[in-house]
Amino acid sequence: MIVIKNCRLVKALTEGYDGETADVYVKGNRIEKILAAGSLHEEAEGETLTEIDGRGKTLIPGLIEMHAHLYGFIFNYYELQCMPEGKIIFGVVDFANEYLKQGFTMIRDCGSSYNAVATVRNAIEEGIIKGPRLVPCGLIITPTETGNDCFSDLYFEADGPEEMRKAVRTELQKGNDFIKLMVSGAFMNAGAEPGIQVMELDEIEAAVAAAKRKNTYVCAHCHGASSIKDAVRAGVRTIEHGTYLDDEGLQMLKERKDCYLVPTGAVGLYCLDTGNPDVSEELYEKSKAAAEIEIANINRAYHEGLKLGFGSDIDLEALRRHPGYEFIARKEYYNFDDLDILLQATKNSAEIMGYGDVLGTVAPGKLADLVLVDGNPDEDIYVMTKPPVHVIKDGEILV
Ligand SMILES: [Zn+2]
Repeated sequence: MIVIKNCRLVKALTEGYDGETADVYVKGNRIEKILAAGSLHEEAEGETLTEIDGRGKTLIPGLIEMHAHLYGFIFNYYELQCMPEGKIIFGVVDFANEYLKQGFTMIRDCGSSYNAVATVRNAIEEGIIKGPRLVPCGLIITPTETGNDCFSDLYFEADGPEEMRKAVRTELQKGNDFIKLMVSGAFMNAGAEPGIQVMELDEIEAAVAAAKRKNTYVCAHCHGASSIKDAVRAGVRTIEHGTYLDDEGLQMLKERKDCYLVPTGAVGLYCLDTGNPDVSEELYEKSKAAAEIEIANINRAYHEGLKLGFGSDIDLEALRRHPGYEFIARKEYYNFDDLDILLQATKNSAEIMGYGDVLGTVAPGKLADLVLVDGNPDEDIYVMTKPPVHVIKDGEILV
């Protein structure tokens, strides 16, 4: 059993306990109970009790990244495409562990090659290696489109509803957990236009239906306004990026209780970094032209009260150079409130991914994914840019 003693709790991230400080008990892989700080825990006798001193520190739920590409442990995709499969697998492990060190206990992978993330997920679940919870989609399903060559080994090209069904079934057959579609163009694909829609409504609908048959969902890469609306109409679970979201699209999202927006702030900041040798002139120009519009649109969604997911879409080098990059982006790029950013990275993302019952808050009975940080992140989000004191995943102290 583990007890985190005298730790501070954030009310909005805690359930079943009202106090400011507490002793939090973890038994097996669950949070057993939350008692007032200093309470005597009778059952502790006879059990090995690992004590963690939480004084002056805040205990929050494990962080959730909703938009990663774990095979992208280097930014240079041409180099990645020439890399042998085995090295990619080790790269995924390295990337996943960097996330873990920064407090992320669950990562949704929105596209990686070689089925590498499902392979690493299995190794973690079987106890062969340690790591965070991984939720992969496998290859990204896209129509035949300009710029696809830039990510040829990351994409599964499919045109028309029939090919879409085959693509969805193939990725799920390989053991992936959900489906990712390219519904609009992308920033990083040379020659592609992020604002245009590239996938038709009947293709998205076919993918959604095939995913539903296997009790899972579709996540849709969408920058352009029409692509967002068709993705919502077709019944996808998440809209990634949402750059050119218009009023009608926002209204549609507000009305749907099972479709959510996942903005990706860090990649936006990253592409505006002129000192970054990986950012080409074309990428910089495209990103600059979109930044103001994106910030305004995401802010309208935020102020309308949409439940936003937490995604970054960055590579490992960027994450290492800028720990807590998405927290910084949501503060400095989108200008969100500190507590709301924390909610997005925990409770909201758990609920959006369908894990709200077991993850996302500090609550008795929930899975023990917990992060102990030095400071008050709900009042100063920059606390999240420093390494956490401890990271507990599934009841095990991993950091
Ligand atoms: Zn992405």
